[in-house]
Amino acid sequence: MPELPELEILVSNLRNRIKDKTLGRPIIINPKVISGDSNLLEDKMIKDVMRRGKWVLISLDEMYIAFHLRLNGYIFLVDYGEADSYDCIILPVDGEYIHFGDPRRLAQMKITSEIDSLIEELGVDPLSKDFTLEYLSKSLKKKRGNIKTFLMDQDIISGIGNTYADEILFWAKINPTRPCQSLSKEEIEALYNSIKNTLEEALKLGGTSTEEFTNLISREKSFEPKVHRKEGDQCPICDTPIVMIKIGGRGTYYCPRCQK
Ligand SMILES: [Zn+2]
Repeated sequence: MPELPELEILVSNLRNRIKDKTLGRPIIINPKVISGDSNLLEDKMIKDVMRRGKWVLISLDEMYIAFHLRLNGYIFLVDYGEADSYDCIILPVDGEYIHFGDPRRLAQMKITSEIDSLIEELGVDPLSKDFTLEYLSKSLKKKRGNIKTFLMDQDIISGIGNTYADEILFWAKINPTRPCQSLSKEEIEALYNSIKNTLEEALKLGGTSTEEFTNLISREKSFEPKVHRKEGDQCPICDTPIVMIKIGGRGTYYCPRCQK
């Protein structure tokens, strides 16, 4: 599942390729994943491509197309308009084609004139100025439950999923099972810095290479997780084997020695 760094890179590369181009008539294969009137899209010019949380937004004149990939969705930009097996919709863009699909049909595409309702549901973007140490600190104090689940709660911080939550907690040296309210001032600060640093590092490296959800990210280099899906491997800091536990049904990986 793509998380914030991967989506940020996808958005930036998609913007470079389709901004100021014009949409053709959409080819609809699976209308169930689409909400809104796709007839309105033809001949509209693409003004911008943006990211809000895990939503990819194409901005048109007084209208938006909002994509959410969920677990298995994809966006490809290619030079052919014939449908691939799991495509849900194909959007022609001046001789190229955006293929949007999902083998599990859980991805979503919304055509909407306003994105405020979409954005209101989202927590603060961890790469924005609104994400402050104070915001993190206050949010942690209000929350029951463990820190791993907290990091993945899109209503609080938007864009962090299972992979980066594990990496963030590793660098912050915090055990994923810790109750949110048990974190000390120093630990909250370490967590804050780790969120920023881990995501920015991943962004620089082009995200993780495990998901083939787009052809819009070049794979010359990538972010290599240190603990996520590394069960049994040695911790890069102390050589203790990484362990895996389940938190909220999700595989959670950590170093039992470094992460207290
Ligand atoms: Zn360790």
